[in-house]
Amino acid sequence: MTKPTELHDFSVAELAAQLRQRKVSAVETAQHFLGRACANAALGAFLDFNEEATLAQARVADAALAAGSPGTALLGVPVAHKDIFVTRDFTATAGSRMLQGYRSPFDATVVAKLAEQGAVTLGKLNCDEFAMGSANENSAFGPVKNPWDTSRVPGGSSGGSAAAVAARLVPAATGTDTGGSIRQPASFCGITGIKPTYGRASRYGMVAFASSLDQAGVLARSAEDCALLLSAMCGPDLDRDSTSLDVPIENFARSLNDSVAGLRIGVPAEFFGEGLSSDVRAAVELALKEYEKLGAKLVPIALPRTELSIPVYYVIAPAEASSNLSRFDGVKFGHRAEQYDDLIDMYRKTRSQGFGDEVKRRIMIGTYVLSHGYYDAYYLQAQKIRRMIADDFQQAFRHCDLIAGPVAPTVAWKLGDKSDDPVASYLADIFTLPASLAGLPGMSVPVGFGAENMPVGMQLIGNYLQESRLLNAAHRLQQATDWHVAKPEGF
Ligand code: GLN
Repeated sequence: MTKPTELHDFSVAELAAQLRQRKVSAVETAQHFLGRACANAALGAFLDFNEEATLAQARVADAALAAGSPGTALLGVPVAHKDIFVTRDFTATAGSRMLQGYRSPFDATVVAKLAEQGAVTLGKLNCDEFAMGSANENSAFGPVKNPWDTSRVPGGSSGGSAAAVAARLVPAATGTDTGGSIRQPASFCGITGIKPTYGRASRYGMVAFASSLDQAGVLARSAEDCALLLSAMCGPDLDRDSTSLDVPIENFARSLNDSVAGLRIGVPAEFFGEGLSSDVRAAVELALKEYEKLGAKLVPIALPRTELSIPVYYVIAPAEASSNLSRFDGVKFGHRAEQYDDLIDMYRKTRSQGFGDEVKRRIMIGTYVLSHGYYDAYYLQAQKIRRMIADDFQQAFRHCDLIAGPVAPTVAWKLGDKSDDPVASYLADIFTLPASLAGLPGMSVPVGFGAENMPVGMQLIGNYLQESRLLNAAHRLQQATDWHVAKPEGF
């Protein structure tokens, strides 16, 4: 029998094998992780549980396992979902008071797909309100704490996902990335995260922030675990998501072990300039040296419009958000003010009460840049530069197979440090925004520790639909090093 003390240290692949060999049941596994999640509630990672629904799913998995079903790679494995995915059996708040207590009549495609593969939903994970933020301090339900140092932020907006995985409260979790929200919290919490190519995973049932950027992905401890979940999540959903890519389902785990000898890794000068803290630089450079030892070649490249990605993103994302969030009007979904004089007053009070400061700020910026007279100067201009940023990547990919650099300029900061200064927090997104604007797949891979012994992540960016190559490169690094194995004390 598997000792419960070991259960939470197993990778997804190991846990699935234990379940298949019937050394532990799916119900016992679910109970173990639920117990851990409750015992560590102080991290603020989870927002909702439904023990009955979780155990019901686990019993179904156990029946399949007992019947000797060869099952899938995820049969009986607990996963948890960022609260931006709508769910029938759990609330889906998107971290907002606006949706407090909201239950959807259907499951998001990503949630349904993982459940179809036998994964057991453990609960819902805290996030920045409507996925707007880089520190998970914008959640209406309180901040999430970084398990490596609970006085620090876990990153955002998928902060609950990253903290829960790092603290071994769940083996793997979903997240979404609009401008870095999978990669940056993965980096801050010392775990592995991947955002696939825009359109790979369905957006159906993901509460919309900026539709041309939003993309679902995975946070787990290793590239191998990411590959297992990502393979189950992706695939065309053409009837329900108009930007879903019509490309076949791929098994991203198949090429994990391919050699990286001869792989050309592009190193953009703009990612290593002023503004990058020396501890992060040192850790990333050490990882690049590891790649050289594995036979990869480092190629200097240029991404000349990196700096422009900040103003471009912070025009386009709020513009789309201001439009998407107009649906929260007190009529169709969620919160409605209790007292009001007339319809306009109802809208005003509902939205004033339901939205937090950052969301209001984005709605105002978005409405402004889309308004008559400013549309051409801001929104249209931003769209043009977005295209150039995407072209810069294509230029770079003529000389390299993937791109490597830091995920964030620094390690995780202290809770409260940037919460009064939105611009400081926007600036810290500089290295994740370019790939988002271009719709490219990106990863964060742990590469050791920086200042105050906090984790550092290296970013890998691939060309369109090159997730397998990214995961392969990350896996080979993780075979050769043990940065991803480190775990925070006390968990
Ligand atoms: N930090 C960025 C923002 O606040 C990105 C968020 C995200 O990727 N969801 O918009």
